Amino acid sequence: MTELSTNQDFIDLEDRVAAHNYSSLPVVVEHAEGIWVTDVEGNRYLDALSAHSALNLGHRHPALVAAAKDQLDRSTLTSRAIHSDQLGLFCARLAGLVGKDMILPMNTGAEAVETALKIARKWGYLVKGIAPEQAEIIVMDGNFHGRTTTIISFSDNPEARDHYGPYTPGFVSVPFGDLPAIEAAIGEDTVAVILEPVQGAQGVRIPKEGFLPGLRELCTARNVLMIDDEIQAGLGRVGTTLACRYEGVEADLYTLGKALGGGIVPVSAVAADREVMEVITPGTHGSTFGGNPLAAAVGKAVCDLLATGEYQQNAANLENQFRETLEALIGRGVNEVRVRGLWAGVDIDPTLMTGKQACERLVKNGVLAMALHGSTIRLAPPLTITGEELRIITDALTDIVLCRWAAITYPMASARRV
Ligand SMILES: *Cc1c(COP(=O)(O)O)cnc(C)c1O
Repeated sequence: MTELSTNQDFIDLEDRVAAHNYSSLPVVVEHAEGIWVTDVEGNRYLDALSAHSALNLGHRHPALVAAAKDQLDRSTLTSRAIHSDQLGLFCARLAGLVGKDMILPMNTGAEAVETALKIARKWGYLVKGIAPEQAEIIVMDGNFHGRTTTIISFSDNPEARDHYGPYTPGFVSVPFGDLPAIEAAIGEDTVAVILEPVQGAQGVRIPKEGFLPGLRELCTARNVLMIDDEIQAGLGRVGTTLACRYEGVEADLYTLGKALGGGIVPVSAVAADREVMEVITPGTHGSTFGGNPLAAAVGKAVCDLLATGEYQQNAANLENQFRETLEALIGRGVNEVRVRGLWAGVDIDPTLMTGKQACERLVKNGVLAMALHGSTIRLAPPLTITGEELRIITDALTDIVLCRWAAITYPMASARRV
C-alpha cells in the first residue's frame, strides 16, 4: 500500500473499509491537546465539537492521562466475576458528585439508558406493583437517548428509526417540556418519565423555566420515577454538575456517560438511591467491561476534577459572553440562538446555508462544530476554554454568516467589493 499523507488519503481509505454510518467533516486528526486538534497535514483547529461533550475536560487532560497510565501499569480488566481496587472508589466519588447512594457502571451512554429503563420497569413490577408486562414509560418528542433497538423504538427521528422494526413497545411520547401533556399521559401503569434536561441533539433545546421543577413535583405526586439523561447535558456543560440543577431539581435516576470517560475510555453509569437500585440483584443485569479498573480509574479522576467545581464555574462565567456575541448575529444571518453554559444551538437563516455547509466553512476558519438538522449547528467547546479563545469560535462564525448575509442582502455592494 502506498504511504497515506493527506486528509483525503485517509478519508478515501475510510470510505472503502469503514461503514458509512457518519458523514464526517473532512478533518483527519493526528494529534490533540486541550481545546486544539491538529490534522495529518498540520492544520490546527479549535475543537468546539468536543466529541458531543465527551471532551468536556479537553483532549488528554494531564491528570486523566496520568491516571490512565498509572492504571495501565497495575490492572486493566477483571470482569465483575472478581473485584478490583478501583470500582468502589469510583462509585463512591461519582455517587458523592451526583448526590445518590449507588452507581451501576456500564460503558456507553445507550447502555446506561437501557439500564435505567430496565431498573424503572423492574421497580414498577416489584415496588409499585404494576401487573406483569404492562409497564409504560413516558418519553419526550425529539429525544435522543442512543442507538439500540429499544431506544430507537421511541425515537421520532425517521433517520434513526426507519427499517429497524419491529419496535419495543411500552413507550408513550409527549411534546418536550409540556407538563400538562405528561400529566395526561400518566396512567396506572406508568413507571417512569425519561428526558434530557436540555435536548442536545435538537440543537440545545431548553425547556421553559419551571418545567423541570414542575415535572419533579408531578413525578413525586404520581409515584413515577424521573429519569434524567445527563449523558450530554451533564458533568459541567451548562455550568452546573448536573443540568437539572440549573433549576435546583434532583431526579430519581441519572444516566451519565460521555465526559465521564474523560475522553479516554467509554465509561457510563446509572446513579440512583438504594431503594430503587436494590431491584437489581446478582445475575439480573451486567456487562463484561462495565466498571473495569481502567475505566474506573479514569472515571474516578474525572470525578475528582469536577469536584473542584472550577470547570462548572468557567462554563457559568462564560455563558453571558457566549450568548451576547451569538445574539448579536440575530437578524443578520442568524434566526435564533439558545445558550446555556458553554453550550449553544445556533439556527442559521436557511436561505444562507445548511448546517453542514456552515460547519464546512468553519473548518476553513479553523473551528470544528457540529451540524444538526436543517441549518442548525451546535457549539460545545471544552470547559477548559478561556474567554479569549471562545472569541475565536464566535468570530469565525460571525465571519462566515455575515459574509453570506451581506452578499445576499446587499448584492450590488458585495459585487463591487470583489
Ligand atoms: C450521546 C447520548 C446518548 C448515547 O450515548 P452513546 O455513548 O453514544 O451510546 C444517550 N443520551 C444522550 C442525551 C446522548 O447525548
